[in-house]
Amino acid sequence: MKYISTRGDQSPKHFCDILLEGLAPDGGLYLPESYLQVSDATLTAWRKVYHDQGYAALAFEILSLYIDDIPAADLRALCAKTYTAEVFGTGEIVPLRHVEDGLWLEALSNGPTLAFKDMAMQLLGNLFEYELARRGESLNILGATSGDTGSAAEYAMRGKKGVRVFMTSPHGRMSPFQQAQMFSLMDDNIFNIAIEGVFDDCQDIVKAVSNDLAFKRQYKIGTVNSINWARLLAQVVYYFAGYIQATESNDQKVSFTVPSGNFGNVCAGHVARMMGLPIAQLVVATNENDVLDEFFRTGVYRVRGSADTHETSSPSMDISKASNFERFVFDLLGRDAARTADLFGPQLTSAGRFDLGADSLFAEAAASYGFISGKSTHADRLATIKDVFQRHGMVIDTHTADGVKVAREHLQPGLPMVVLETALPIKFAETIQEALGQLPERPARFNGIEDLPKRVVVMPADAGQVKAFITAKCA
Ligand SMILES: *Cc1c(COP(=O)(O)O)cnc(C)c1O
Repeated sequence: MKYISTRGDQSPKHFCDILLEGLAPDGGLYLPESYLQVSDATLTAWRKVYHDQGYAALAFEILSLYIDDIPAADLRALCAKTYTAEVFGTGEIVPLRHVEDGLWLEALSNGPTLAFKDMAMQLLGNLFEYELARRGESLNILGATSGDTGSAAEYAMRGKKGVRVFMTSPHGRMSPFQQAQMFSLMDDNIFNIAIEGVFDDCQDIVKAVSNDLAFKRQYKIGTVNSINWARLLAQVVYYFAGYIQATESNDQKVSFTVPSGNFGNVCAGHVARMMGLPIAQLVVATNENDVLDEFFRTGVYRVRGSADTHETSSPSMDISKASNFERFVFDLLGRDAARTADLFGPQLTSAGRFDLGADSLFAEAAASYGFISGKSTHADRLATIKDVFQRHGMVIDTHTADGVKVAREHLQPGLPMVVLETALPIKFAETIQEALGQLPERPARFNGIEDLPKRVVVMPADAGQVKAFITAKCA
């Protein structure tokens, strides 16, 4: 299986070549040359694999279709080591919970940091360690986080040989729980850097350091951002696992609603659907930052400025542009790389928007690719959290609430709707308190986490100081 860039670079790459890379050299995103088709017989066989051998075995079946440069026995062992009941809280890994008529929640948030990003990041940690050892190399991951991504990366990479993590975050701006999760890690290879500034300052520092090519090469600076194909691929697995749990036969279809920000999660659903998984609809749920909802309603993709990017109570969906969206547009345009390069290069750079509304291809976004969308606001989140609690006794987090709100607008009789639960409510306790007048339940392993000793350095928003810090720690 070879990988190509959405902007046309065709130089043949295999999975492990792109595993440790970010963007393709031409600025595009990597995608497999083709999506492997899953026949009815294979899907039936995978049902049995999931029921008899579990999630890790299913993950191996799917991953092995796209990874031909890791021996099968090694890949199987990496999956088995990643998807365990110890790490993900249950043997089913992603159990389905019934909410109400036609509506289910797929639990993706029982990993170490209580958000769905663990599903992919835990695998990435093991893949990185494996591949770096094989090459005799090391990697310094530099990232910026406002919460979920950074902690998922740190919990995935902690204690891994050949990897260090330098994670910047805006000083004092994460929730006490999120700060405690990250800063209480005492592993020698994890470094927390609190920047005196906002999240954009952190991102600017990461960009500045990465643009210093000599420094980047000398210190082997890498990233683990959401455009990494390995993360997307890992996420494809839980669409299959969700489908298998929601159905008894392959004749049945299922729809998924996905709380979305950077379009990484739902893009994995798109890949699963392209492989032939019987998904009826992929419902994109956004919060007030409705870049994606606007596109699926009108065909206009309009990147927001920072003044136009709202701070909301589902903060992990507060995005100004959807960094994985280019992958879907590439497919929508019939894999026309020249056109994709023009839209995401010159057009977005000069106009900050493009418009496919008049293009006949845009109509296919819904008809052929199953995409529809909806939007949810703070008031919707509060109302949905309250309603789901009062009627079903379940407490859901704010992002999942955005999903449930939008999913309910798209229910169809006889068609199961699975909402992806992307975080546990304890991570966003303040809003739960606001909705329910009480705090959410806290998993026992997090009791007293805020009182643990913290390891973090505070720094001004200055890329030079961050570089000096990295240099000192790599000496
Ligand atoms: C990252 C995140 C999202 C958004 O996922 P994307 O892949 O960026 O669309 C939604 N909910 C939670 C809790 C997250 O951490």
